[in-house]
Amino acid sequence: MSKLPYFSLNEYFKQKYKNRIQKITISLPFTCPNIDGRKGKGGCIYCFDGSIPPGNDRNIPISIQIKLGIEKGKKKYGENTKFIIYYQTNTNTYEKIEKLKEYYDESLKYNDVVGIDIGTRPDCINQEILSLIEGYTEKLKEVWVEYGLQSSSDETLKKINRGHSVRDFIETVELTKKTKIKITAQIIVGFPWEKKEDYLKTAKLCADLKINGIKIHPLYIMRNTKLGNEYLKEKFKLLSLDEYINILADIVEILPSDMVVIRFTAEGDEKYLLAPDYCKPAYKQQIKKKLIEELNKRGTSQGSKCNVSYDR
Ligand code: SF4
Repeated sequence: MSKLPYFSLNEYFKQKYKNRIQKITISLPFTCPNIDGRKGKGGCIYCFDGSIPPGNDRNIPISIQIKLGIEKGKKKYGENTKFIIYYQTNTNTYEKIEKLKEYYDESLKYNDVVGIDIGTRPDCINQEILSLIEGYTEKLKEVWVEYGLQSSSDETLKKINRGHSVRDFIETVELTKKTKIKITAQIIVGFPWEKKEDYLKTAKLCADLKINGIKIHPLYIMRNTKLGNEYLKEKFKLLSLDEYINILADIVEILPSDMVVIRFTAEGDEKYLLAPDYCKPAYKQQIKKKLIEELNKRGTSQGSKCNVSYDR
């Protein structure tokens, strides 16, 4: 297969490891300061039960979730597969330090686990937690934190009730960069009030900060969320699949060629997904194919336009 026009997570793993690497997504009984009132109430307007992935159950003990994930991964990808434990649901640094250590330490108990990836908010980290996480770099090959930024516009962050600012994100990234931890930023494309230039500014901020990886999510609307209720009242316009691909290709072009593009699809639980259709799991491969076609048609690839500057 020819080389992809972007630096995928699979490619990153292939360059570093002989074995196949798979992520095991786990959900734990964490909450979020934007839900419990410390930062805000009600959460981000699109938040669907702490972003729990379909099929996950936060009440299953962590050891069982990891064991089941390893079993499933080996069955599907072979005995030599290695794993990264992805702490995904809610805010996985929002607990007492002793409890965090207990949860993260669980990843050290399995020979086939080579890393951890901890999803959190940029306003939910401090030096003590970073030092704890950095400690795992001595035992694990991959130690990542994932900060939700979503947009580089404070106005958008206010509208989505994010409860933190762009400055919080920048300061947290700068603090994290002083450690050996790798950083992923998560951004959203598709807010009805944002335009292509806004998404490019957000991506450019991540590029300028020289973070290690990016997750680009199309906005998707779930039932029983604030955004979902607004959508049911007034069907505001969402990006079509072609519009999304076009913006996605523009984003990929301005990212540095060594930044790992970890994700650019969303897979909302179909039972609750209101729109858009292309956020159904079945579209994952189609989006990938369309992005490759678009970049090939343009004759560009990741990094082609990474010197373009955007005002912030
Ligand atoms: S930060 Fe995450 S868990 Fe917290 S309210 Fe927003 S989407 Fe939900």
